Amino acid sequence: MGIKVAKFGGSSVADGIQLTKTRNIITADPDRKFVVVSAPGKRFDGDSKITDLLYLVKTHMDHNLPYDQIFQVVADRFMAVQINLGLMDLNMNRYFDEIRENLKKNPSADYVASRGEYLSAILTAAFLGYDFVDTQDLIKFDSKGRLLAEETNEALEAELAKHERAVLPGFYGSAPDGSVKTFSRGGSDITGALVARAVDADVYENWTDVSGFLCADPRIVKNPKQISSISYKELRELSYMGASVLHEDAIYPARVSNIPINIRNTNIPEDPGTMITDNMDILTRGDRVVTGIAGSKDFTVVALYKNMMSSEKGFVRRILGILDDYDINFEHLPSGIDTVSVVMSNKSIDGQLDEVLEEFQSRLRPDSIDVIHDIALIATVGHGMDRRAGTSARLFTALADAGVNIRMIDQGSSEMNIIVGVENKDFETAIRAIYSEFVEE
Ligand code: ASP
Repeated sequence: MGIKVAKFGGSSVADGIQLTKTRNIITADPDRKFVVVSAPGKRFDGDSKITDLLYLVKTHMDHNLPYDQIFQVVADRFMAVQINLGLMDLNMNRYFDEIRENLKKNPSADYVASRGEYLSAILTAAFLGYDFVDTQDLIKFDSKGRLLAEETNEALEAELAKHERAVLPGFYGSAPDGSVKTFSRGGSDITGALVARAVDADVYENWTDVSGFLCADPRIVKNPKQISSISYKELRELSYMGASVLHEDAIYPARVSNIPINIRNTNIPEDPGTMITDNMDILTRGDRVVTGIAGSKDFTVVALYKNMMSSEKGFVRRILGILDDYDINFEHLPSGIDTVSVVMSNKSIDGQLDEVLEEFQSRLRPDSIDVIHDIALIATVGHGMDRRAGTSARLFTALADAGVNIRMIDQGSSEMNIIVGVENKDFETAIRAIYSEFVEE
């Protein structure tokens, strides 16, 4: 028998109906021994997430406003689920009272926000008949709020060895002084990955409300194909461009211990979802060239030209120094013999473009500076690309046929990623053209 760690997101534990689906999934496979849960999420459009309500409690506390009613809404939602599931032996009031007592002591926002996962795990454990294992003392952060990965792994491993089956709350652990410390939003995914690593799971299942990753954004491409398998690297290349289904920091713990991550849909449990793995046998199945296409709008390209640039020492270092002074991240830095272009998101530039250009002018003394506004970047990613000749030719032809003017090209050194910069207005057309060339064959 193996071990699977199953993490269920907010929508999978949002109410009694969803929790019943969750239980059916867990009991359908005896390997699903360790379960990590988020706080209940939205039940319908316009509903509130428990975590958001808890942050609201804290905001009220900070402004000396009464918060009891908001906390009561939180408690009522858990009570409703409990009644719905017929868990009459469970004394939830005990936990609500404990939290109310702690709220009087003006606790940190992290403590308050974490109570959604805490209560969710207690309730789910009772419903499944699994042990409840609190993560507060097991997931450890340093004084700067950084995860202590090895200490955490040891603590989780030692504790979970004592339990046959357990439910753990996602999202939080503790600071060196023992107080609750949370991950960033969506961090229950990280807890799931840490638990998977600690119990050396065969697979880390991440159950959510979508059946994994799609080859392209469904708002742009109609009914895009689902990605059945994707490597960690491909996912990285795609995720930094667009919305992600999984918290980025959840990848590392699973990857170091070689545990595949399977994204699954609680509402369509028969769907195999997306498998994130480095197993090349799985990844190269079929004849796939492109795994996914992702992008985003609103970048600015600053192209610097200077005769003999390549023999001038420290040119790029000075560019980076200037960006650093203005706290701007660059996305790409394509370069030629006498040119280098700096691609930055408008968000990162944050209204400082004029100042930065002046600095470039005075500190770099280029022969010319060209600024291209309103650029969208599109990444076409796939391990299949490096084994096939002519992939870039196909990509550029598809864009030319669609009437899209390519303003910039950058190919990652891994040969599994081609990034093109196009005008914002051509963004959707370009994605559709690449999709129909490579995916919809
Ligand atoms: N409940 C937390 C949030 O809403 C963490 C999580 O669900 O992963 O961000």
